[in-house]
Order: sequence, then structure tokens, then C-alpha cells
Amino acid sequence: MKADMPWLKPVAQQWLQQRKQGRLGHALIVQGPSGVGKGRLADWIVEQLLCESGRGCGLCKGCQLLAAGHHPDRYDLAPEGQQIKVDSVRTLISQLAGTSHQGGARVAVLNQAQRLNQASANALLKTLEEPPAGVYLILVVGPGQPLLPTIVSRCQRLVVPMPTAEQIQHYLGADGVPLAQWPYWPRVLGGPMALKEAIDAGQLERLSGLLEAWRRSLAAGLLDAKLSQVDGESAATVLKLLYFELLSQCEEKSERMAWCYPVMKQVAQTQRWLDRQSGINLTAVFQQLIAEYRRHALEGE
Ligand SMILES: [Zn+2]
Repeated sequence: MKADMPWLKPVAQQWLQQRKQGRLGHALIVQGPSGVGKGRLADWIVEQLLCESGRGCGLCKGCQLLAAGHHPDRYDLAPEGQQIKVDSVRTLISQLAGTSHQGGARVAVLNQAQRLNQASANALLKTLEEPPAGVYLILVVGPGQPLLPTIVSRCQRLVVPMPTAEQIQHYLGADGVPLAQWPYWPRVLGGPMALKEAIDAGQLERLSGLLEAWRRSLAAGLLDAKLSQVDGESAATVLKLLYFELLSQCEEKSERMAWCYPVMKQVAQTQRWLDRQSGINLTAVFQQLIAEYRRHALEGE
């Protein structure tokens, strides 16, 4: 396990322990928030399973084929657009019905398995219950729709936690996020890998500006001009900023801010509602939330 992601280590240990005790199932869910390295953990497990010595030695043929990105006994499935399609699942199942190329285990990794739809999940059930000999299935599950209980009940589960603030800062290095100033960035954007991506893309700077704009808007009771330029695509993230800013105000002032919670609830509801709409006048929606905040604030004081 790579040393730069120490929070994966206990989860990897848990898997090794299960293997040592002969309790390793053939269907595994790797679950956790976005940007915490779930894919990296899955890759590491694949290495353990396909390495000839079972340790991910890096030297054997299995390890070398994996490193080169074309081990014939590793299968990957990912969503096309918003969903993992039933046809892709059927193709995978028919591939898994064959035999091992290298004479060892075969491993299928289903990325973003939360995007299995009803039909593709159902198509997968039988294989999860009785996989062909030597086949392992790893379902990498991020935030979103929960998996069907019928899927979950057929799998073992490893949960990758959100790293601590110190681990995040350490991972990001010198140009990391100032979590001390506003600790909610991981809740808005995801774990260290998602944060790094946001920093590299200059997104964090833009969002910091929008957070400031929310603060000004809440104080003045009027929507800041910066917020009226937000497009539909970033609306969900921008509403998360507002949600966690309200939470941070609540937490700072404890029970004196209890009136704040109904406003937060409304922000969360608005976010879910916007998710299903298009062509909405965001300026009006944002302004309404600010009005709601002011109304509760006046009543609360
Ligand atoms: Zn090896």
C-alpha cells in the first residue's frame, strides 16, 4: 500500500486478515466518500489476487502485466454516461464464464457501482452469488444512490474512511487547503484526491470567492452579484457551500443559532430539487434562500 495514503492501511490490513483466516468472499464492496482512494485500494487488492506470490511482488508476470495495464484476467467495468448498462454487465458475465488466461484468479472491478441501474443490478445477482471458480468481483461504490439490498447482502464490505484533517493537509502538502480556516472543504468537494484536483484546476479559489459572496449576501440580506453568475452545473456545489457555511455559523454560536437548522434543511431540499430540474432561474432561488435566512434570523433573535 502506497505510503502517501496512510488511511488506506487499516482497510488493507482488514482485507489481508480476512484472507489469512480463509474468510475472503468472492464478491467485495469497497465503499467510501469521493476522492479518498477507493480505486487505489481496489487496484492493490487486484494486485494481491493476481500476483503469483500473492503479495504484489512487482516482479512476476502477473504483476508486470498489471503494471503495463493489460493483464488478461483483469476486467474493468465503468458507467457509460450516468449508468452502468445492462448490456455491459451481460458482456462481463459472458467473459467471466471463460477460463483464466494466466492460470490463476480472475478479477472484475466495477467502478462507480452505485450507478448500476435496476436491470444491470439484477443481471449481476446470480454471478455475485455463485461466481465462476477463481473469479473475484470488486464493486467500488461512491456517494449517490445506495446499492440494492440484494446486492449488498451478497458481498463482503470494506469501508474507506474520510482521512483526518492532518492526513489531508499532509497529502496536499504546502499548497494545501486552509482547513483550519474553513474545515468543510472535504464535505463540499470530497477527500484529498478530489481536493487536489480542485486545487490544480483553480476551482478552490473560485469557490472560496463564492463562499465569501455567501457571507456578504447573508449579512446584507441581498444576493451578491458574484452569485448571480453561477451556472446550473455548479449550482449543487455552490449550495453545499451555503449549507456548510450555515452549519459553521451554527456550530460556532451553538444553541443561539438553533433557528438556522430549518434554513439548512431548506438548502438541502433545494439542492435535491435542482438536481432534477433544468433551466431554473438560480438568482431567484438563491435570493429566496437568503430571504428565508433573514426571516428566521429576525425571529430567532
Ligand atoms: Zn507478483
